[in-house]
Amino acid sequence: MSDKLEQLLVPIKKHRLLVIITLAGVFWLVALFFFFFYNRSTVFSYGGGNCFRDPTFLPSMYESGSESGYKLHVAKSISIKGYPIYSARTCVEPTKPPLANSKNKVALTIKKVPIIQKRYAVSTGVLPRLDTTNLEGKISIREPLKFKIDQVDKVFSYRLAVADRSVTCDQENQDVICDVSKLGLAQGKEYSMRIERFFGDSKVEKVKESSIVTVEPVAISRSSVAQGGIVYDSPTEIVLTANKPLVSATVELMQDTQKVEHTTIIKDNIITLKLAKPMPRKTKHSLVLKDAIAQDKGVLPQSHTIPFTTSGGPKVMSVNIGRASVDPGRTIVVTFDQPLAPGQDIAKQISFKSGNTPISYTASISGSQLFLYPKTPLPVCSVFSITTASNITSNYNITGDSAWSISSRLRCYTVSVIGYSAGGRPIYAWKFGSGASKALYVGNLHGDEKSSKYTLDSWVQELDYNAERIPVGKTVIVVPSLNPDGFAVSSRKNSRGVDLNRNFPANDWKADVKMPNGEFAIGGGGATALSEPESQVLSNFVLAQRPDLILSYHSVASVVSANGAGNSGALAALYSQLSGYRNLSEADSSAVFQYDTTGAFETWLYEKVGITALLVELSSHTNNEFARNKVAMWRMIQ
Ligand SMILES: [Zn+2]
Repeated sequence: MSDKLEQLLVPIKKHRLLVIITLAGVFWLVALFFFFFYNRSTVFSYGGGNCFRDPTFLPSMYESGSESGYKLHVAKSISIKGYPIYSARTCVEPTKPPLANSKNKVALTIKKVPIIQKRYAVSTGVLPRLDTTNLEGKISIREPLKFKIDQVDKVFSYRLAVADRSVTCDQENQDVICDVSKLGLAQGKEYSMRIERFFGDSKVEKVKESSIVTVEPVAISRSSVAQGGIVYDSPTEIVLTANKPLVSATVELMQDTQKVEHTTIIKDNIITLKLAKPMPRKTKHSLVLKDAIAQDKGVLPQSHTIPFTTSGGPKVMSVNIGRASVDPGRTIVVTFDQPLAPGQDIAKQISFKSGNTPISYTASISGSQLFLYPKTPLPVCSVFSITTASNITSNYNITGDSAWSISSRLRCYTVSVIGYSAGGRPIYAWKFGSGASKALYVGNLHGDEKSSKYTLDSWVQELDYNAERIPVGKTVIVVPSLNPDGFAVSSRKNSRGVDLNRNFPANDWKADVKMPNGEFAIGGGGATALSEPESQVLSNFVLAQRPDLILSYHSVASVVSANGAGNSGALAALYSQLSGYRNLSEADSSAVFQYDTTGAFETWLYEKVGITALLVELSSHTNNEFARNKVAMWRMIQ
């Protein structure tokens, strides 16, 4: 050591203590400067773990600012008698939503001495990012919707909002999982949706806004048993076809309330129920698809029930004849509820009789129909019966258990064309019975008096269905329309402009006549009496048949009028009483008909032929008045 240095150290040595104290003071000042004013920096992680090594003495002396959006707190203090002495770690936590790529200053300040601070710089990176590409496909309404997130996020929460409902999503590592089932969505629909980022309870931002489409529901598009249907065969399996490939299905087959044993096989969109044993006949079943999940996560919206029954053997559903009026040439068709076994000896199971006499017939089967036709035509009005035995077998080899029979009758009339109108239309006469005493009902001499044709058409039907009421010894002939040309165009006259009821050779026949509408018709009575084909047809028919009684129907005076021959007066009174139409005596005639009824049919019958006749005037031109006349019409033939 040199003397100079020695000399220099003398005062230091002399004031050693002072020097040491000074040096120590400087050291502490520098240390405190660094301790308090040095900027500590930390990178904030959204995934948490934001604590770092940072020694702090007497940590409870400090308080954290939070103006920058972060707050500090010291962790894991060493304490003496409950008073914290030292902490080795400081943690940072956000008090506001962290901003992406920001640098923020925050300090731990000694309470009441704000100048003395521990300073920190907190920097953040980019915000966590959700991958929402799975929203582009169709969404299941049941399965949770899972989004990948590019970093673990313990800072934010996420909400999925669809229409007016929303659900908070769970986070697991790098998955954000939203329970869509809580949103009550319908399948096969489009919705507007948002994913929102939340910091605590406050919404930070919309992460995603778009429309989503939910998957189509599972539906049954086809079933091998029809809804409410009847199963005629003995199926070993039942097949349901869904609208799309399935991964699972729960299906029950019930017989009344009992479960029917089966195995269910699902392949693509086909559900097959293999039955353990044949289904019993004539029982109620239901197929219940309780649940089904499709490969695309679509589900069955509600359970789908198909009720059905199993049939018995063949049962007659209908026959193409009624209990009367069967056309003698008609093939009788008996229709069953199901196809019949074509090979069976059907003749053995059918009885086809007229009274007790078997009818020789041919029978054939086609599908569910049985065709019967007599080999030789039966006489008019023949009563017959058909009975099918109970043991007819179906095409599925199921035998029936109920017999069926019908009694019927061939039609009781013969119908013939007795002539033609001026316009060439046929004039028909229906004839019932074969007795010597004849009654003729004729209508529609005036074509616009349609009610008379309708009423006599019904009379024909009435006679046919009740032919047994026609007294033996009577013949009933009905000519519903003498003037078919006038009927066709609703004209009183025939097609040659002649009023047929003015064209008969009564004493008062005239060529020129007055019409009910006041018209004076030149030649309206015909060029001569019986100049018209229709009046010739009727007069010839009357003269050939010589009925004992003739009723001629007109409208609309609502009266009955005797022609004066035979007991016509008494019959008119009776008819009037039974029908309610006024009985019109000869004397009243001109008061009702404000025109001369020259050349009238009934007058001719009285004057020239001597046949008892009634004129019946219905009360309407257009209505069928059979119901009002029925009793009187029957009485006229008794
Ligand atoms: Zn008339």
